[in-house]
Amino acid sequence: MATRPTVTDPMATRVDRHPPAVLLTIGDELLVGDRADTNARWLAEGLTAASFRVVEILSVGDDEAEIREALTRADARGSGGVLVVTGGLGPTLDDRTREAVAKHRDLDLEEDPAVLEILTARFLARGYPELPPLNRRIARVPRGARVLPNPVGSAPGLELPPQPGGARVFLLPGVPAEMKAIFSGTVMERLDVHFPDRPAPPVVEIVRTTGIPESRLAQELEACLEGIPGVNLRYRPAVEGVELRFSAVGLAASERLAMALDAVDPVLARWRYGGRESTLEGATLKACRKAGWQLAVAESCTGGMLGARLTSVPGSSDVVLGGVMAYHNRVKTELLGVPDELLSDHGAVSAPVAEAMASGVRRRLGAQVGVSITGVAGPGGGSEHRPVGTVWFGLDRAGADVRSRQAVFPGNRDEIRRRAVQYALQWVRQEALGHGGFRREGGDFGQG
Ligand code: ATP
Ligand code: MG
Repeated sequence: MATRPTVTDPMATRVDRHPPAVLLTIGDELLVGDRADTNARWLAEGLTAASFRVVEILSVGDDEAEIREALTRADARGSGGVLVVTGGLGPTLDDRTREAVAKHRDLDLEEDPAVLEILTARFLARGYPELPPLNRRIARVPRGARVLPNPVGSAPGLELPPQPGGARVFLLPGVPAEMKAIFSGTVMERLDVHFPDRPAPPVVEIVRTTGIPESRLAQELEACLEGIPGVNLRYRPAVEGVELRFSAVGLAASERLAMALDAVDPVLARWRYGGRESTLEGATLKACRKAGWQLAVAESCTGGMLGARLTSVPGSSDVVLGGVMAYHNRVKTELLGVPDELLSDHGAVSAPVAEAMASGVRRRLGAQVGVSITGVAGPGGGSEHRPVGTVWFGLDRAGADVRSRQAVFPGNRDEIRRRAVQYALQWVRQEALGHGGFRREGGDFGQG
């Protein structure tokens, strides 16, 4: 996520009361690219929301010496705060975390009778005649550690009080569901006990936009935000659009955030389609429903992606009638009634063909509105006249003129197709909302 400090935070000059947090994730699979480190991401989000300042994220393999080395660094980096370690708590011999931590802290590992009892009961309940010897290892706990119950798996979490110059350490299993259950169930409570003076978490508002590039947004928004103190704005650009994260902390945070959102409202009105949980397809369907539209789609280069996006929304059947995946020209002529001469005179990627596809699918399916996409997604098939990325869109509304729009998108085949679908959704949405002038203001989806 790109960060542009908008306005200086009045709190920034004070002593930072956010305790530091360090994450250490353990597992060979994380280093060879077998598995994305979703634990670190999830914990970073949770700890940040709980007013910790995540200062470092480390990953190492299942090697005891390397884990110890990482622990030495991480423990010191988290001094006065927390260190959360995930992975390697299981029963197998490659699970080395508890041994490494015991050595790092110079603590003996002792079998915990209560953990042993829970483990044994768990295995007997699953039909084992006894606790397998390998799994008994899970009951070994560094002396002085607190056991944090695992409601969904066998290895419990462990908490170790800080050493001088070190962090309070939480050891959690690597299995994401178990890690999350223990963190949400017990670790959060323990953090409240040991770090009661954390500042209130930031107030956050997410705004999702599409059709306007990050640089232009930044330019316009930052002008609006001048003079509003202590509101931070981060941009998360993606192919589908830019997500904005406004946040404020400290005194009157909600009020300052509200002021900022009011100030940017005129700029965002055109590009915003919702908040954190919103999707453009959802917003487009909503606008169509309000306008009383039923849609039919005809797709060439996007091969059904527009239809798939629209119908991914539950309850879309009141708006979406259906579509035709008209990839081959024969489908364009035979199913959509696109005249042969249009294809031979103008080519499949052209305004007349896009318009004929939109009208054809609208009539064929008996919809009020027909939408079409036809373009050169590449990597081959481009020409000087019609480079890769050229996409034509058609929109035919019963009782109105059929119209077409052209865009030239950058990127690879996948990105061009996704941008094309985004463009079509935004165009339909703007039209359904009754906003004219789409070409001028409706969207820059990274057109070249
Ligand atoms: P187990 O009792 O299952 O052995 P464990 O604490 O030893 O648990 P690991 O063996 O390290 O954990 O990992 C168990 C599972 O969780 C594996 O499928 C692993 O890929 C996954 N996993 C481990 N760490 C992470 C992580 N940081 N992000 C996402 N998945 C992870
Ligand atoms: Mg394991």
